[in-house]
Amino acid sequence: MDYSYDPTNIFARILRGEIPNRTVLETEHALAFEDIHPQAPVHVLVIPKGPYVSLDHFLRDAGAEEQLGFWAAVSEVCGRLDLEAGARFIANSRDHAHQEVPHYHLHILGGRPLGPMLVR
Ligand code: 5GP
Repeated sequence: MDYSYDPTNIFARILRGEIPNRTVLETEHALAFEDIHPQAPVHVLVIPKGPYVSLDHFLRDAGAEEQLGFWAAVSEVCGRLDLEAGARFIANSRDHAHQEVPHYHLHILGGRPLGPMLVR
């Protein structure tokens, strides 16, 4: 698997403070912010601060502290959002999943019925 990381990607630029974002939570290991084109009333992205292109890359190469820190941030964000009626967590990886931004990000979606998981 080619996990080479492009440091000019838009989320790397957000992490460097070069592009503004609507932050939900920032911790040592993660940043959570609102998606610029929300697909649901709740649409937040959570990204690790390290240079990982996808969830599988993150799980393979991130250290235990980074991984625990990332998932702790996801938990904290979930507690701040209204997800009582349900949520969907999506991590698109590479071409077949239509990943647009090559920095691992977890979508958290909710606030309305989200329909079937996949459209054929
Ligand atoms: P992907 O298709 O890679 O899983 O999702 C990328 C997401 O990033 C899309 O939902 C898109 O709306 C969001 N996005 C792209 N550029 C920006 C940006 O500059 N700021 C924010 N907040 N979200 C962005």
